[in-house]
Amino acid sequence: SREMHPDNTQIPFGNGDVVIGNGRLHLIAGPCAIESESQAIKTAIKVKEAGATFFRGGAFKPRTSPYSFQGLGEEGLKILKKVKDETGLFIVTEAIDVDTVDLVEEYADVIQIGTRNMQNYALLRRAGRAKKPVLLKRGMWATVDEFLMAAEYIMSEGNDAVILCERGIRTFTKHSRNTLDLNAIPFLQRETHLPICVDPSHAAGRRYQVTPLAKAASVMNIDALLIEVHIQPEMALSDGPQSLTPEEFATLCKELRDMQIPV
Ligand code: PEP
Ligand code: MN
Repeated sequence: SREMHPDNTQIPFGNGDVVIGNGRLHLIAGPCAIESESQAIKTAIKVKEAGATFFRGGAFKPRTSPYSFQGLGEEGLKILKKVKDETGLFIVTEAIDVDTVDLVEEYADVIQIGTRNMQNYALLRRAGRAKKPVLLKRGMWATVDEFLMAAEYIMSEGNDAVILCERGIRTFTKHSRNTLDLNAIPFLQRETHLPICVDPSHAAGRRYQVTPLAKAASVMNIDALLIEVHIQPEMALSDGPQSLTPEEFATLCKELRDMQIPV
């Protein structure tokens, strides 16, 4: 809590030029899933050109249906390493269980824990023993207090580098996949010192809602935006309907700069 820790947590990457939590808005962009090397590299080059500092793509995918594409696994992680070597972008990718943390920790700069795993205490504890920062997504059913306690599980094992990610919660609406809980942002900023990331893509579930939600969140002094971008959204193996094209992503970045957001 802020009471115990008045200063904001800052998380440095690489030689320290990139810091999450120092007042700049970092763009974390990439496809929902790594599908092939060429898809990943092409997307990474485009999002970097537009202004992203982090590339995000899933190698292990926690899909609602066991028959949906589950990700490329370690092959996907190897592709992510190539992306990093070729572009210099820092890598964010998801660990879906305790076993996958070992591999993900080796390849990623940030370990993502997904909404469905927010109360997987064994996974949270394992991530707390990892040597890499953790991007913790809010459970789609979770109160902010439960969200903060999930972060405590990670931190209680010694890993203080936790980024809180609001990605939308379940409500009664049908016009969006989830409801982006913007109210949570000032609350979290008041109560905690942890950096805040907002993911409008999974909240919206629909491409046309992503840019307006991203802009709305960006004026709240958040630390990062997570945006799904696919070079051919209609061909995506997961989350195509909510993925921006690289051109749409570049437009969003330009519009954020026009709004004087420090991206
Ligand atoms: C994702 O980031 O692609 C993902 C599966 O997100 P969430 O856990 O928020 O559904
Ligand atoms: Mn996704």
